[in-house]
Formats: sequence, structure tokens, C-alpha cells
Amino acid sequence: MAAHQEKKLAEERKHQNMQNDTKTSQGQWGRAWEVDWFSLASILFLLVFAPLIVYYFIMSCAQYQCSLTDPLLDLLKGDKHLSDIWNRTPRLTYRAAGIYSLWVAFQVVLYVSIPDFCHKFLPGYVGGVQEGAVTPAGVVNKYEINGLQAWIITHVLWFANASCFHFFSPTIIFDNWIPLLWCANILGYTVSTFAMIKGYFFPTNAKDCKFTGNFFYDYMMGIEFNPRIGKWFDFKLFFNGRPGIVAWTLINLSFAAKQQELYGEVTNSMILVNVLQGIYVLDFFWNEAWYLKTIDICHDHFGWYLGWGDCVWLPYLYTLQGLYLVYYPVQLCTAHAVGVLMLGLLGYYIFRMTNHQKDLFRRTNGNCRIWGKKPEYIECSYMSVDGTKYYSKLMTSGFWGWARHFNYTGDLMGSLAYCLACGFEHILPYFYIIYMTILLTHRCIRDEHRCSSKYGKDWKHYTAAVPYRLLPGIF
Ligand code: NDP
Repeated sequence: MAAHQEKKLAEERKHQNMQNDTKTSQGQWGRAWEVDWFSLASILFLLVFAPLIVYYFIMSCAQYQCSLTDPLLDLLKGDKHLSDIWNRTPRLTYRAAGIYSLWVAFQVVLYVSIPDFCHKFLPGYVGGVQEGAVTPAGVVNKYEINGLQAWIITHVLWFANASCFHFFSPTIIFDNWIPLLWCANILGYTVSTFAMIKGYFFPTNAKDCKFTGNFFYDYMMGIEFNPRIGKWFDFKLFFNGRPGIVAWTLINLSFAAKQQELYGEVTNSMILVNVLQGIYVLDFFWNEAWYLKTIDICHDHFGWYLGWGDCVWLPYLYTLQGLYLVYYPVQLCTAHAVGVLMLGLLGYYIFRMTNHQKDLFRRTNGNCRIWGKKPEYIECSYMSVDGTKYYSKLMTSGFWGWARHFNYTGDLMGSLAYCLACGFEHILPYFYIIYMTILLTHRCIRDEHRCSSKYGKDWKHYTAAVPYRLLPGIF
């Protein structure tokens, strides 16, 4: 039995390494080879409107007390012109450019020059040099996993400055929020354009490039799978994780400091947002090695979607709750605050445990215990392009027996908790849950489409055994 399982495992590995000798097999990975009109229209829409959406949200907070409708009404009624709004928008400043350059340079230094030491003293933490998944060209990249260390060093320095050194005010991020937005945009566009040029002229691995012939699609979705400079500077890992996600918790701390400065206190809603999002960020860094195996790293190429998205969309729109609370310092009643905390912690628990169960199940090839029992699963098979049959397993017990993407459900519960912490006065802080619902539902459908083509009738057996996607009995 064990020998049989070993053989299957070896076949799985062999299959992974064999894939993508041909263009046809590469097509199973990552983004498309050919662009249909719907994808092109969506991409053009995002290229034009995503930067405007970010600007609109941040401007609404700065000029309209976080009302999303008032700017539109003003413009429609003719009370204001676009130029009025634009003229009141802070411009790029030397100070912001200096802060931002220092910030990014510091994160680059932490990323490339300090090998991980956290894994040497933190039991259970996986850091240091780790291998990523096999790329379409059959390359296995090595990554220096040192995000937790970068996060800890950055935050220790932040607190040291706030409590002892006072080199700068902890409100520095809020005070330069819009000038910093221009800097983030400059970096986002520069890195995306550089990645495109690099893909054409000096790719890290030419076999891992995809060209559709459509300029906009290639710019947006990326050409290179894993662009790198030198041996260790990996664009995807750095931009996905470092300037944006390390900054996420600092941005929230800066918003809390601003509340303190303006109102003489930090509200319980602000503390909740800081704590719940802080747990999510820490979880990301604690599990950075696991992150190497997620769709972002295993399937997406590096283009504007990741480059600009990580520099601008993530730090500016994922932190809207904290920004909102600077303008509306909501003090929640105890029952409301406890409800938000419980929802956030429960969501986090489900998110983490569901991901952990699948990870454990796949790592041990099902030889583990889930909720004290041997896991149940459906044996499934799939064919490679050369007609060889391979085997895998889809778990049908634990949280994976409740719904096919219960990890997304947990993520959505946590996201809803951040929004609920802001009370019910405005829609703006609820943007996050609306966005995450669209993102994760779309991702769920996209993933299931891929799994259905991969596993065929076995996927049908699996969906019959676990009929719901996100919410048992509903969807
Ligand atoms: P998943 O971790 O859910 O992985 C999906 C893959 O798992 C499938 O393609 C399939 O791969 C395998 N699989 C599916 N069902 C089973 C099963 N029953 N048993 C075993 N394996 C199965 O997807 P993601 O990488 O999208 O998500 C990772 C986490 O990241 C999620 O918790 C998500 O919430 C979070 N996330 C957060 C975002 C944010 O902006 N905050 C954005 C995106 C994700 P195979 O082909 O190997 O069978």
C-alpha cells in the first residue's frame, strides 16, 4: 500500500516536472495565450478606471468627509468642476518622494541582504531558503523567505522611534497620504513597464514568458512568470509581500496615531481594525513559505495587475477602514465591539484551519488526521498531454467537506468584521467586503473551471460529494 502511494507521488512529481515541454501544456498554467474580446474589454476598463477608483476613494475622504456620493452630486449639479477637485488635491512633494524612496530602499535591503534568522529560534516557523512550485518551463526557483524578519525589524524601529527617538511623527503616513499616493503610482507604473521591457529583451527565463501579441493584455497580465534581478531579487515575492503588506500595519498604526493627535484618544473601533488586520498580516508573513504554493505565485505572471496592484491598490484600498476612522472616530458599544472581535477571530480561525487542513492533507498524501480522524477523499486522475495518467486526491472531510472553498468563506468573514468595526454611517469602509466578495467568488469560479477541465468526471464526483462552494446549503 505504502509502495503504491509512493509510486503515485513519484508520478505526480514526474508529471509536474514534465509539463510544459510544449506550448500546449504550458497553456494549462497561468494566464491565457489568446485574448478574447471580453478579457480585453475588462483589462482596458481596469487599466483606465482602477487608478481613478483609488483616487476617488482617497479624495472623497480628504475633501468630502468619506462620502462617496457627494463628489458625484457636486459634479452633476455643476456646483463643482473637476478642476476644483483637482486643484484642492495635494501634489507630489519632495518630502513624500524622500520618505517613499527611503521606505522602498529599506525594504529592498531587508529583503536581499539579511538572510532569515527567525527560523533559527521560532519553533514551527518555516523561513530561510525555500523552493517554490515547478514553473511551466520546469524551473524550481529558490526563495529567501525572510518576510517575518523584515516585518519585525520594521515594526521594532517604528515603535522605537515613536517611544524614544522621535525622528519623525507616527502620523507621518497619514500626513503625506496623497503625495505618497503619487509616489506609489510612479513605482507601480515604473515596475510594470520595466517588467514588460525585461520580458521582451532580457527575461530571467525565456521559456517562462507568455506573449499574446496584444500589448494591453501583456502589459496588464505580465509576460514573465518569475522576473528576477540577480539570484535573489524576485519581483513577485518582493512586490506582493514587502512594500505593501509590511506597510499595511504601519499605515494602520499611523491612522491610530492621527486619531490620538486629533481627538486625544484612540477609539475601540480603530484598535479592532489594527488588531484584526494585524493578525491577518502576521499570518501572511508567518506562512510566507506556504504562500509560494498559492495561485498568486504558482499561476500569475508579473505585470501591471501585480506590480501596480501591490504598490497602489493594496496599501490604499485595504486600509480604508483605518482612514475612515480618522475622519469618523467611531466608539462602539461593548456588544458591537465584542461581536466584531468574535466574527473577525472566527473568520481568521476558519481561514487558517481550512488552508492548514489542505496543506497537511496534500503534504502527507492523506496520511494524517483531520479533526482526530483519517481524512475522507475522492481519488481522482488526470491525463497529461502525452496521454500519461496521473493521480491525485480531493479531500471531502474537515472544512473541505463543508464547502469547496471554505477558506474563502473564512477570509470573507474576517473582511466583513473590519468593515463592521466602522459602524453604519457610510458605505466607504464597506468597499473592502464588496471587493473581496467579487474577487474571491470570481477566483473560486476560475479555479473550479480549471479543476473541472483537469479532473473531468472525478471533479463531478467531488462536487456531488461537496455540493456547495462557499456557504453550505446556500451557494
Ligand atoms: P486554494 O488554497 O483554495 O487552492 C485551490 C487549489 O487547491 C485547487 O486548484 C486544487 O488544486 C486544490 N484543491 C481544491 N479542492 C481541494 C480539495 N478538496 N482537497 C485538496 N486539494 C484541493 O486557493 P488560493 O491559492 O486562491 O487561496 C489561498 C488563500 O489565500 C485563501 O485562503 C484565500 O482566501 C487567500 N487569498 C487572499 C487574497 C487577499 O487579497 N486578501 C487574495 C487571494 C487569496 P490541484 O490542481 O492541486 O488539485
